[in-house]
Amino acid sequence: MELFTNPDILRLEAFFAAAEHACIVVHTHPDGDALGSGTALLEYFRRCRGVQAILLLPDSAPSPLAFLLPGSGVADAAQDPDGAAACLAACDLLVCLDMNGFGRASDLEGPLRACRARKVLIDHHLHPDREAFDLVFSRTQVSSASELLYRVLRALPDAASGQLPLQVLTPLMAGMTTDTNNFANSVFPSTLQMASELLAAGVDRDALLDRLYHRYRENRFRAMGAFLERMQITPEGVAYAILDREFLQRFDLQDGESEGFVNLPLGIGSVRLSVFLKEDDGHFRVSLRSKAGVSASRLAAEAFHGGGHECAAGGKLYFPEDIAAPAGAADYIQSVTARFMRNPGPSRTE
Ligand code: 5GP
Ligand code: MN
Repeated sequence: MELFTNPDILRLEAFFAAAEHACIVVHTHPDGDALGSGTALLEYFRRCRGVQAILLLPDSAPSPLAFLLPGSGVADAAQDPDGAAACLAACDLLVCLDMNGFGRASDLEGPLRACRARKVLIDHHLHPDREAFDLVFSRTQVSSASELLYRVLRALPDAASGQLPLQVLTPLMAGMTTDTNNFANSVFPSTLQMASELLAAGVDRDALLDRLYHRYRENRFRAMGAFLERMQITPEGVAYAILDREFLQRFDLQDGESEGFVNLPLGIGSVRLSVFLKEDDGHFRVSLRSKAGVSASRLAAEAFHGGGHECAAGGKLYFPEDIAAPAGAADYIQSVTARFMRNPGPSRTE
C-alpha cells in the first residue's frame, strides 16, 4: 500500500540525507505512541543514517513507560529548558511526531517557533498546522503516529532495500499497541498488516506486553476500584469521574498509573461518553473517550481548550478561569455535557 505521493518522500529523503543534527519532538505528557515513535526515529537516525539525533521531550516520560527510551540521546525540556532551546537553535532538521502543532509542546512552543531548521511533521491527529512545517505527513486513518512513521520509513528509498532494525521496530510496535489500547480501537487493515510484518521481523511482542501491562504497582488497581466506585453516570449517558488531589495522594498515583481508566466506563451499554479529570496545579487534565457518533474531539475543543481524535481527546479545565474552584468541576461537566449530548456529532467542517 502506498500512502504517499512520491515527491514528498523524495523531499524527505533529501532532508534526511542533508541532515547532520536532527531534533525529534513529541507532545507534552508523552504517551506510548509519542515515546515509541520518538525512540524509533532516534534509533533510525543513529543506526540507519548516521545522523546525530536527540529526542526532546517537553516534559518527563511517565515511569511505567520509561523503559521504552534508549539509555542516551533523550533530553527533558522541563528539566533543562535552556539546553532544549539550544538544541533547537543548533539543529538542521526538526521532526515533530504525534502532535499536530507546536502548541502541543507546552513550554517548548516558543523555541520551536524560533527554530530555523527544516521542519517535518509526521502525525495522525485532526487539523495539522501545515503552515508551521516544510513537509507534512498527516493521516487520520491510521492507528498511531508509530504506524504512519513506519509507512514513511518503509517508503524511503534506502529503507525499502534493507530491514529496519529491531531497535526501530520494537518501539513502533509499542506505540501502535498503546494507541490502539492493545488493538481494541483505531485498527485499520494497514495496522494489522504492519503488526504482522513486525512479528515476522522478530519483534518480541510477549516481552513488550509484559513490560507494558504486567509491571504496574498494586496502587494502580486499588485506585481503579475507587475510581469505578466514584464514577457518576448522567441521564444523557455521560460517565464522569474526578480524581482530585486528595484521591491522587491517597493512592500515591503517579503520572501514567491511571492510564486507561477513562476507557473503562465505555464498557457500560448506556454510556456514550467518558469524561475523566485529574487535578494538577491550577487546572484539571481532562481525558475524553466516546462511542461512534459522539465527537470527543469537538467537546474537547469547545469545553476544555483541547482537541485530539474523534473518539479519544483531551484538554484542560482551569480554575479559577473556567470554574471558581476544583469543587465546581462536577457541575461544569454535568452542564456542558447535557447541552453537548443534544447534538454530539462532529462539527460540520470536519
Ligand atoms: P489522553 O486522554 O490519552 O491524554 O489523550 C487522548 C488524545 O487527546 C491524544 O491524542 C492527545 O494527543 C489528545 N490530547 C490530550 N490532551 C490534549 C490537549 O490538551 N490538547 C489537545 N489539542 N489534544 C490533547
Ligand atoms: Mn498517537
